[in-house]
Amino acid sequence: MTDEALILEGIELVRGQQVETRLRTIELADGSWVDLPLLVDLATLSGTVLVVPAQNPPALQAQHRVFVGHYLKSPLDQSPNDPWISFPGDADGNMAARIAHVLYDRLMRHADYLVDIHTPTTGGRYAPFAFLPPPDAGAAAVAAEAMAKAFGVDYVLSTEQGLYVSEQSPHVVLARRGKTALGIELGEGGRLAADITARGVLGLTNVFRHVGMLQGAVETIGRQIVIRSMTVVRAQRAGLVHLKVALNDSVAAGQVMATITNIFGELVEEIRAPLAGPIVRIATFPIVNAGERIIQIGVPR
Ligand SMILES: [Zn+2]
Repeated sequence: MTDEALILEGIELVRGQQVETRLRTIELADGSWVDLPLLVDLATLSGTVLVVPAQNPPALQAQHRVFVGHYLKSPLDQSPNDPWISFPGDADGNMAARIAHVLYDRLMRHADYLVDIHTPTTGGRYAPFAFLPPPDAGAAAVAAEAMAKAFGVDYVLSTEQGLYVSEQSPHVVLARRGKTALGIELGEGGRLAADITARGVLGLTNVFRHVGMLQGAVETIGRQIVIRSMTVVRAQRAGLVHLKVALNDSVAAGQVMATITNIFGELVEEIRAPLAGPIVRIATFPIVNAGERIIQIGVPR
């Protein structure tokens, strides 16, 4: 069950030394713990940080961005069902629109900067990358690119088309209003990884330094390759996937990137790179159907 109170329940407000935070630590898969306050040197922080640990509470509970039980009740009435492409939202709309409305009206529109941190869909892993508003957002897009490079990602997606520049996604809505806003993809859905968590903490620290909320120099990390698109390579056959490449590898056109075998272990497909470029995303589920994406190759700007 979701209403406005539940969405706002998880909000953490960090304002200078007046810290009201309930969620102090998170446990990682290896049993170690990370202190969230290490995000910021609280004594020197200027401004206010609003941390929204779960932008979409029913999706968190369902472990899927589509909160299936609700959607099943009335698929067409509850469509679109993804709050992320429902901004700025609608207080009288369906549940996705209401979630977007609460986030936008109560939080986002009051902020000067937005960093929308995602993990990819379960079963997929990205190299750390940032997605920007489209170039026609002008100064807001230029500012977002500088912030993405300060965060320190391996790839910065600057594109005019596709879901990452939906006019109803939060970073584009804010960019159209002149704010500096971007998204980040880190790690893999459904997993906690200490190295990725550390990367995110360092990235946010860099962003706070970049905008002057923290003292100190930005620590340059990541490959910071600006790409204008990602070419999706899909399986033509169903079966078990055997990846031959890793994230950030550079492949040559025609290179075998993965093979697919049937349940008898017989080779049924070799997946070759249609173009040269760096590997930005890989699928991690071992079993695929025809048409599923296996690998995405970045196309430099
Ligand atoms: Zn995402």
